[in-house]
Amino acid sequence: MDPQTKDRVQTWVVVLIIMTLMALSLRSWWRQPSFSDSGKRPVMGTLAHIIAVAENLEKANTAISAAFEEVYMLEKIFSVHNPDSQLSALNSEAFPGPFYASGQLYSLIEKSVRYSAVTGGTFDITVAPIVDLWNQAKDQGQPPSDEQLKAVRQMTGYNKLLLNPDKQTVTFKVPGMKLDLGAIAKGYAVDRAVEVMKENGATGGLVDIGGEIRTFGKPPTKNKKWKLGIQDPGEEEQLLTSIMMDDTAVATSGDYRRYFTIDGVNYSHILNPINASAASELTSVTIIAPTCTKADALATAVTVMGLEKGLELIESLPETEALMVVAQTGEIIKTSGFDKYMP
Ligand code: AMP
Ligand code: MG
Repeated sequence: MDPQTKDRVQTWVVVLIIMTLMALSLRSWWRQPSFSDSGKRPVMGTLAHIIAVAENLEKANTAISAAFEEVYMLEKIFSVHNPDSQLSALNSEAFPGPFYASGQLYSLIEKSVRYSAVTGGTFDITVAPIVDLWNQAKDQGQPPSDEQLKAVRQMTGYNKLLLNPDKQTVTFKVPGMKLDLGAIAKGYAVDRAVEVMKENGATGGLVDIGGEIRTFGKPPTKNKKWKLGIQDPGEEEQLLTSIMMDDTAVATSGDYRRYFTIDGVNYSHILNPINASAASELTSVTIIAPTCTKADALATAVTVMGLEKGLELIESLPETEALMVVAQTGEIIKTSGFDKYMP
């Protein structure tokens, strides 16, 4: 090849490389997803925060609106405080019953009973009469008496809940029973919101309902994973640690957020369904699990189980990790695989 032709070939190679680079960067710019941050809206007695990532802004917004609609719809079914909710109807009619529970309500009750079995009854949606007793004690300024605790235990226990999967009916075996889905409904709503976002074209997203969180796909930043902070139960506005999430859920139960104050003493709002006492050993329990329903139920259960039994349970479950803070000492205990979620 004569030097002139060689020069020309070299020039063309350089031009070709520049054009390829330009085409590649144009393509990646074109593919860069838009994202929309919805801000926060009140729901289920707390705040919900939803972020959607989609190929364009319109799809992201549609996904966010659909997710909020789903959560509002679920709140109408599951609220124990709203007298018009389907759960309130069940609570007044399941004894003597049977009460027909439509799709999502029956499904969540069935899931809850399964978590009761897995956690040895420490997570139990029949806990409502115990919750009512502690609320009454708070109003009267006196902890419940032994007789009151004994009496209320007659009305609790998931083994007193009769489910008929063929007819989708729920029956209470004894009078005075009542269900409270407060320890699992937010987690379930997060999972449903994620499903609805995906159905509406979101390629990534985050749903946070009062600290029960699930993420999927990639965040709207350059990071590959979503970075979340776990709050320090001792210090408001301070983080215990950060975790990196992809398609994962996290839920936290803690006595530092809600409690009954009686005679100057704070009692946890998480109650032991077996002896009707307030949980006290752990001040905060964070669970990482594949679904938020599971993370939410287990965070409540481990708070009741305490350190030793809680650790044993979470270590035995696949793809599930825990971070616990001991109330007395402030000691932080993690399960063996927790660190893989740390930055
Ligand atoms: P969480 O913040 O998810 O731990 O849920 C706590 C709420 O669930 C409480 O405010 C009660 O309404 C209810 N609850 C309390 N103790 C239990 C329990 N052991 N099992 C199921 N629900 C509970
Ligand atoms: Mg919970």
